[in-house]
Amino acid sequence: MISVVKRFGGIEVSCCGRHILVDPTRRFPSGNYDAVLITHGHSDHYTSHISKARRVIMSGETLRILREFRGVRLGANVTVAHPNRPIIFDHFSVVPLNAGHVMGSLMYLLEFRDGSVLVTGDMNVEDSVLLKGAEPYPDADVLVMESTYGDPSFQFEPRGEVYNEILDLVDRVRGKGLRLVLSGFALGKGQELYALLRNSGIDVSMDTNVDSLNRILLGVGNRNDGDVMVADLPPRVKLNGDSVVAMVTGGAPGGWLRSKVHIRLSNHSDFNGLVEFAINSRARRIYTVYGYSERLARHLRLEYGLSSYPIPDNTLI
Ligand SMILES: [Zn+2]
Repeated sequence: MISVVKRFGGIEVSCCGRHILVDPTRRFPSGNYDAVLITHGHSDHYTSHISKARRVIMSGETLRILREFRGVRLGANVTVAHPNRPIIFDHFSVVPLNAGHVMGSLMYLLEFRDGSVLVTGDMNVEDSVLLKGAEPYPDADVLVMESTYGDPSFQFEPRGEVYNEILDLVDRVRGKGLRLVLSGFALGKGQELYALLRNSGIDVSMDTNVDSLNRILLGVGNRNDGDVMVADLPPRVKLNGDSVVAMVTGGAPGGWLRSKVHIRLSNHSDFNGLVEFAINSRARRIYTVYGYSERLARHLRLEYGLSSYPIPDNTLI
């Protein structure tokens, strides 16, 4: 019998006397878990307490992000995961799969004698200039999928069109003799925007956070004050009157960003991407987690007849 439960701010998967915790964000009893899996390096997907776990699994990129950028102390308890290379334990195995969300992001397929569970973490099905999109892994018994943008109001333009919009904006702002600051989350947008601009032959400067991450992940850095800057959200840089700030995110702008230019580009799948992923997974049971979990689960249930529910706090299936 497989059990999937939301616990310690993460997802607990249990089967056949084995217990696995994915992306815990709160303190947890480390001795209770055979393995702790981290899907990626965003701060809402881990706790520094993972340093106490018996065994922690994450990609090499995520390990470097947590150690060198976030300052988490991780030692010999870490196993580095590579996409499509199974990690075998007694009575279960972990198959890491590409999640397409940010550099180093992974989904995990957990295989037990009694069935299998695919946990997506955050994911994006669309290819980007830097990453291949996530592909549904068919026929897992249970799919635990993210639902950040699981509402039909979230429909994103194709990435290629958004890229052109960004490059046009660079031309327009430079044409006026102003500086453009492209502001998005440092892990994700920081690498994607850098790659997009560099591929177009544009010199890119970075704020402190993007500079630190890009040194770790891409082996490049440049904190000089160029006329096109990739910056965190909000930017870690002094903004002068000659700066145009464009916020680059999937979500709606708010707070200090209201008056700024907004370019809609997300590292998550939009609503249609999530629905397609769920259908193609052919999972027998689907649990949604994060964001619009109720909304997406109901849509999959009522429109497609899928057995789909928000992840419970305590359920046996
Ligand atoms: Zn994320």
